[in-house]
Amino acid sequence: MKIHCLQTGTVRCKQFQLTGASNIISRFYQLAFTDKWGEWMPTYCWLIEHPEGLILVDTGETAKIYEKGYLPDGGLYHKAVETRIKAEEELPHQLAKIGYKTTAIKTVILTHMHGDHIGGLSHFEHATIYVGKAEYEMASGKKGAGNGYFKKNWPAWFQPTLIDYTDGAEGNFSHSQKITADGQVVVVPTPGHSIGHQSILVKNERFTTILAGDLTYNESTLKAEIPDVLLNNKAAKQTVKTVHQYVKSNPSIYLSAHDWNAPDILENTKIYKASAIV
Ligand SMILES: [Zn+2]
Repeated sequence: MKIHCLQTGTVRCKQFQLTGASNIISRFYQLAFTDKWGEWMPTYCWLIEHPEGLILVDTGETAKIYEKGYLPDGGLYHKAVETRIKAEEELPHQLAKIGYKTTAIKTVILTHMHGDHIGGLSHFEHATIYVGKAEYEMASGKKGAGNGYFKKNWPAWFQPTLIDYTDGAEGNFSHSQKITADGQVVVVPTPGHSIGHQSILVKNERFTTILAGDLTYNESTLKAEIPDVLLNNKAAKQTVKTVHQYVKSNPSIYLSAHDWNAPDILENTKIYKASAIV
């Protein structure tokens, strides 16, 4: 079961999101009043070639961000995140490079609904699109806009299948949802970066590949248990502990959506080792 890494532009956020900040006052101050940006990072989506069909995880950024009115004109959003993408870097072009049309993909799973993960949604009207129930409720509700979700940019037809994790425990995760009938592709709730953030476990006989979205920005911050925390600090800390425990107890490769090392980890099957990462 091959997994492809597809890059759709780059993103940067404030440095403290990559390295942690001691408390909420420090986080807010650094977010609002400093220009301490972190490095530019890739924005990756993943394509899983599963025997039951192609499964896409996230849809990446879109060049529509440069159109007037797509993103807010001012406010905290532009202090928290900056993205860059050329039209020829959007998902349909990246899929074409590996020989696929968007119409070949029947299943899409979203780790969460921030703009750089749902920018390519408009290409998947024909597909079943899975989102965590809590994530969709926040993103589509009254508090959505204040939490960085822009419902006006969603396609009019968008009506995702909501995941409520009814399939019981998976490893040390208390709840899960199987996506494929063979149980090889499973979604687990990993709240913290956003309220309904989820991660995808792709299991084979030898190891699990964890498509971790924005849970942490790389493997080192997983090891140090530094979650990307904007909103729910408590949930994020618990989640990062749970995922770290999983990768320590099960042979796993850990792929974050914004880690420059992810293609190397994927291609060379670099199994997470607690002691080997600094
Ligand atoms: Zn995000």
